Amino acid sequence: MAILGSSLTVIAIIGIVTFLLIREHAGAQEAATRSATTIAQLIDADVLRTVELYDLTLQGVIAAAQRDDLKQVSPQIRHLALFDRSTTARFKGDILLLDKHGDVLAESSKIEPRHSNFADRDYFLAHASNRDSGMFISRPFKPRCDCEDSNEWRISFSRRITSPTGEFLGVVVASMRLTYFDQLFNSLNIGNDSTLNIINDEGILLAQKPYLEHDSIGKSFANRPNVLRILRESSGSFNSVSSIDQQQRLYTFSKVGNLPLTVIVALSGNDVFAAWRRTTMVISGATGVLCIGLLWLTWLLCRELRLRHSAERELAQLAATDALTGVANRRTLDLTLRHEWFRAQRSGMPLSLLMIDADHFKAFNDRHGHQGGDDALRTVAKVIAANVRRPADLVARYGGEEFSVILAETDGAGAQQIAEHIRTAVEQLPRVEGDESPITVSIGISTWTTRSDISLEQLLFAADKALYQAKESGRNRVVVAD
Ligand code: GH3
Ligand code: MG
Ligand code: MG
Repeated sequence: MAILGSSLTVIAIIGIVTFLLIREHAGAQEAATRSATTIAQLIDADVLRTVELYDLTLQGVIAAAQRDDLKQVSPQIRHLALFDRSTTARFKGDILLLDKHGDVLAESSKIEPRHSNFADRDYFLAHASNRDSGMFISRPFKPRCDCEDSNEWRISFSRRITSPTGEFLGVVVASMRLTYFDQLFNSLNIGNDSTLNIINDEGILLAQKPYLEHDSIGKSFANRPNVLRILRESSGSFNSVSSIDQQQRLYTFSKVGNLPLTVIVALSGNDVFAAWRRTTMVISGATGVLCIGLLWLTWLLCRELRLRHSAERELAQLAATDALTGVANRRTLDLTLRHEWFRAQRSGMPLSLLMIDADHFKAFNDRHGHQGGDDALRTVAKVIAANVRRPADLVARYGGEEFSVILAETDGAGAQQIAEHIRTAVEQLPRVEGDESPITVSIGISTWTTRSDISLEQLLFAADKALYQAKESGRNRVVVAD
């Protein structure tokens, strides 16, 4: 019971601690998501502002390009008018004005434009085939020129030039170096194993800090489950394992305005849950020690109780038995006789009592000494007990060399039969060395029935009297009281 109680207590303690730790874990995740969302919003705002500047630049070039009077001025003036509004954007590469065949009409870095064709670029194809393509953001690319930064990744922003009748006239395109994102990310501190990323709508990586893989810019990650989920949900947060370095990360992501760009803040599980893990270790350890201590104390208590219980049982057993023969003692006899007497009164079933006395035992003692007499008494007790088999019956030492047997629910005839068995069994015991005749016993029987209806004292007296008669009439016999 105590073990069950303390086990339930231990289960309750473990349950409460687990609940609290789970809540702490959720709290840590919530706080990390909040700060990741703030970082994503900062990046969003900066990127939106930058893209807006690029768009303004493109619209300025288109407005200037569509002026007819620009055809009459010198190339220097035309260059000035076309690229007048384009100086403010950061990390700006070249701005190109392309005609409807993809040939360069003007370029921001030179007054005399290069001879080059861009009709195969993704943005050119998109604008040529779609009137309403708005501002188009290209895939990452490396410039074709042999310029010094030709190894640098860029993306381009472009707009279509359309005649008043809707005819395709060409494209204005401005490129931006992707180091813009690196510089933006460098201004944010997010912890050791965490990463900042920007992908486009096709799952192509535009920027990452720090790089998880070499040469990953420009690569598509659209087949990775985490990226698929991010592109599908466009903003939110979830916990997952990175498919690149197998680390647990908390991904918080948000789409940049209406642009085909998504910012992903991937905080490392180690960073986010470091404090929680330390707390969990300390609390789990302390709880474990507490629970083990509790169970151990309960076990000690139970063992102590068990020992005490068995000692008490042993004492009770000792107090109820006769030390010499091992059968019930006089005290137990008196208690049991009273108990069986009242039971018989209630049930109306007969109750018999045997009084058994060893014959000429004084002489036996004289011949064999007290030790021999004691041995003989033990043997006689064993023989009597062997012939009394019902659980409700009781064999007791009445005193000296006398025994009593209580036979519940047994009438005179049954009692006489048992008495005869006892008498003959004693008589048939092997003779003690030096004796010519065997040990014998005389037995007096009295029985209570509803017909006789005598008192308990009368029952005892009658058994005694019958025993006396048995002695008188020659011993080694059974006499039933009248
Ligand atoms: P009777 O046939 O008339 O019963 O003769 P008896 O000698 O058995 O009767 P009596 O009552 O005169 O003697 C009883 C003797 O039993 C006295 C004693 O020597 C012996 N006795 C009584 N208790 C013990 C005991 O615990 N151990 C031993 N060894 N002898 C005992
Ligand atoms: Mg006697
Ligand atoms: Mg005797």
